[in-house]
Amino acid sequence: MKYKKYKIEEIKKNIAELAEGMGQLTIMEVCGTHTTNIRKYGIQELLPDNIRLISGPGCPVCVTPQKDIAAAISIADQDDVIFTCFGDMMRVPCGDTSLYSLYERGKDIRIITSPMDALRIAQDNPGRQVVYFGIGFETTAPLTAALIESADEWGVQNLSVLCAHKTIPQAIMQLLKSGSNIDALMCPGHVASIIGADAFSFVANELMLPAAVAGFEAYDIMAALLCIVRMLRKGERKCVNMYPRAVTEYGNREALSLLYKVFEPCDTLWRGLGEIKGSGLRLKERYRKFDAAHKFVLHLDDIREAEGCLCARILCGKSIPTDCVNFGRGCTPDRPMGACMVSSEGSCAAYYRYGGEK
Ligand code: SF4
Repeated sequence: MKYKKYKIEEIKKNIAELAEGMGQLTIMEVCGTHTTNIRKYGIQELLPDNIRLISGPGCPVCVTPQKDIAAAISIADQDDVIFTCFGDMMRVPCGDTSLYSLYERGKDIRIITSPMDALRIAQDNPGRQVVYFGIGFETTAPLTAALIESADEWGVQNLSVLCAHKTIPQAIMQLLKSGSNIDALMCPGHVASIIGADAFSFVANELMLPAAVAGFEAYDIMAALLCIVRMLRKGERKCVNMYPRAVTEYGNREALSLLYKVFEPCDTLWRGLGEIKGSGLRLKERYRKFDAAHKFVLHLDDIREAEGCLCARILCGKSIPTDCVNFGRGCTPDRPMGACMVSSEGSCAAYYRYGGEK
């Protein structure tokens, strides 16, 4: 499908004209990069007052529940373990501790930039157990699958994965079918590049909401919003791919085939959303020897969240960061009290860096 190219000023004018007299419209985005860029580019400022953008469960660090953070801390605290993870996970608080506080106490915790770094570390340290903390959605899970497959192929025995990967469509389904006040959905371009735009057609066909797969530049986001508002105006319920330069109808077959060679769906817990059927990924039986949750004894003693923290409500679109009493007071990106302030893709961090609702 071909789309006419407008200037952002024209898109802004078109959205305002289409939205006039439509009452309050709430559009949810479910991607951490969208959350950040909406704030960073001041997209909310470009919209008429009756359109409100809210964030859903799209930040991988934020949706990882306390139980998994506690499991990571429990493993990283054990002797002879080298624990590896992405930098964002280091400062997620869990009770009185975090991976970073363990690191400060001398535990061997290493920030890596690719899961394959964990394989190299395992090969360089044959006498120690190396654990990779796998978090994120369909975008990062194929990389973890590649790590497992390589470790299996090369006979690496001292590597395992603490797997907290999740899949987005099931979470959207659960969140939006449970009587939310969301009028339309902006679908995540990164996830769609792997699973395909067609994987979000259920939003239109089953949830009866208009949806658009969006890219990440200001223009991409505004163009997707125009598409959504136009559908709302006309009463259309479709899922439109507004990011065709990166997203195809059926996604990246190679990445999906690797993903489902190593993983299988399972029920899993999300911060804020609870347990969602079929929304997790666990290692298939053949690869179970690489599962850190089976390899180590876990002590999940303290999974407290900070008092007053609204991360769980924010991830469901029921609150915004400025509703939280800790926002900007006790809780800042330098001293985060909750996951949504830790990650650069978290709503609280985005509001803190780039400003509040309007
Ligand atoms: S401001 Fe901090 S404490 Fe409040 S919801 Fe956000 S992360 Fe949680």
